[in-house]
Amino acid sequence: MNIILFGPPGAGKGTQAEKMISHYNLPHLSTGNIFRENIKNKTALGKKVTSILDAGKLVPDETVVELVTDEIKKEKYKNGVIFDGFPRTVKQAEELDAFLHKNGKKVDSFITLSVPEKELINRILSRGQGRSDDTPEKIKTRLQVYHDETEPVFAHYKKKNVVKEIDGVGTIEEIFDRIKSVLS
Ligand code: AMP
Repeated sequence: MNIILFGPPGAGKGTQAEKMISHYNLPHLSTGNIFRENIKNKTALGKKVTSILDAGKLVPDETVVELVTDEIKKEKYKNGVIFDGFPRTVKQAEELDAFLHKNGKKVDSFITLSVPEKELINRILSRGQGRSDDTPEKIKTRLQVYHDETEPVFAHYKKKNVVKEIDGVGTIEEIFDRIKSVLS
C-alpha cells in the first residue's frame, strides 16, 4: 500500500505517520527528515539544501525526485510506504506516479489533513522542536509556498480518485481513528 500523507506545515503529518507506521507496519519516507539528517551530518546534499530549508523554500524538484527514487528502491519499502512531505509540487507528483507505474505500482491513498491556518501557526510555534524554520516569519513563507506550489497536488490526485479528506482538528487519537476508518 502506497500512501501519501498530505497537508500544510503543522497539520500533524509527522505525528500521524508515526502512528500509522506501527499500525500498518509500513515504513515512513519523510523528505524533510532526510534533508535535516543530511544537514546534521554535513553531507554534500545537506550543504546544498541548508539555506533552502532555512528560508522555508522548496528544494528543487530534480534533487527531491532523485532522492526519493533512490531511497524507495531499498528493500524495506517493498510492501509500500507512507510518504510525508512528498510530493510537494505537481511535477514531483507526476514523477512519482511515473516511477511507481514503471514498477507496477501506484498511489493507493492520498490522505489530506485539514486544519485552519490560525491553528497551524499556533501548533508550529508551540511544538518546540527547535527547527530553524519554525519562526513566525519562516512559517509565513512556508504557508505561502504551500498555497502556491503544493496545494495543486491535491487536485492532481483528486482526478485519480484516491483522495481522502480528514478533519485534522482534534486529539491525536481522534484524528488517527478517522484515518483508520477511511483506510479500512
Ligand atoms: P518538512 O519537514 O516536510 O516540513 O520539510 C522541511 C523543509 O524541507 C521544507 O520546508 C523544504 O524546504 C524541504 N522539503 C521537504 N520535502 C520537500 C519536497 N518534497 N520538495 C521540496 N522541498 C522539500
